[in-house]
Amino acid sequence: MTKMEFINLKAQYQSMKAEIDSAVTQVFENANFIMGDEVKILERELALYCGAKHCITCANGTDALMLALMALGIGKNDEVITSPLSFIATAEAIAFLGAKPVFSDIDGKTYNLDPAKIEEKITKKTKAIIPVSLYGQTPDMDEINAIAKKHNIIVIEDAAQSFGADYKGKKSCNISEMSCTSFFPSKPLGCYGDGGAIFTSSDELADKLRALRVHGQTKRYSSKYIGVNSRLDTVQAAILLIKLKYFEREIKERNRIATQYNRLINNKNIATPFVHPDRNSVWAQYSIRIKNRNSLAEALKVKGIPTTVYYPIPLHLQEALLYLGYKKGDFPICEAVCEEIISLPMSAFVTSQEQDLITAELITLS
Ligand SMILES: *Cc1c(COP(=O)(O)O)cnc(C)c1O
Repeated sequence: MTKMEFINLKAQYQSMKAEIDSAVTQVFENANFIMGDEVKILERELALYCGAKHCITCANGTDALMLALMALGIGKNDEVITSPLSFIATAEAIAFLGAKPVFSDIDGKTYNLDPAKIEEKITKKTKAIIPVSLYGQTPDMDEINAIAKKHNIIVIEDAAQSFGADYKGKKSCNISEMSCTSFFPSKPLGCYGDGGAIFTSSDELADKLRALRVHGQTKRYSSKYIGVNSRLDTVQAAILLIKLKYFEREIKERNRIATQYNRLINNKNIATPFVHPDRNSVWAQYSIRIKNRNSLAEALKVKGIPTTVYYPIPLHLQEALLYLGYKKGDFPICEAVCEEIISLPMSAFVTSQEQDLITAELITLS
């Protein structure tokens, strides 16, 4: 057997190699490397796909979060509530703009923000909530939107891991006022480098976002805002247009593989992922919970089975954010998950032999 991949991007490329090679060559020949036609076409397709009125692509998912906050004018003296169980980028974008990340504990089953705990974190300074659709499943967005509406604040979905997911018949990236996603290669819809996008149905926010990503320019060499340089490369847009064609198939395969994992891992010591019946997951990660996580990861590694921990350190305990004054014990559910969570190989290209091997070792070692 060939070396097992955690996310099999090599097999994915081989499955659409001819089309991707040709799309990339076309961009090289046209030489419209920045904001070429492919970017505009992709923005239209992505907006159509998730149902949002506007899609504004940018250089990466972190910039997408930052641009969304900038478009809302969030900065110094403002607070933004988010999940302590996420990639650093979620809190980093808030902090980078001088605003204060405020954490709220998660739900121990879905690993997403627990709506029941959000309201007590809202102050006069709260401007937005950034719920993270972790591992590919959206949070309880109706409840979160209702809280935000009551307090007149904005919801920005961090959908870096959930583009393509369904929530009550709607798509992730179209279930809150603004949404941000990432096309980092290992995300469910990944490009071949960095990429990101912001979604909104507000014309006003969309116009501002389109300016902010090109130095705040509303016309060439005419800057209305202090912006940034954060565009999606034409070549990445061309690759994403091909990958988008096969994205439904990708999601279907990931779901088939997740269901098979659930079936094979039938063990009282292992908590398999919980997905709400009114939504689905695009399985950015297939994450299980187990007591002896660290020794298990080591033992699986010896057997040639790659695993990853998302995330070993909660955001409120990250060194860079210690100035916020949080301490161990502040978010007990999140902290317990950080000790016990582990993600297994997941992509549309995990073979049944691989799944049998992974789950057999897992059961033996747990
Ligand atoms: C990947 C990720 C980001 C950042 O995206 P980049 O494209 O890597 O900048 C933000 N939030 C979450 C939850 C992520 O998983």
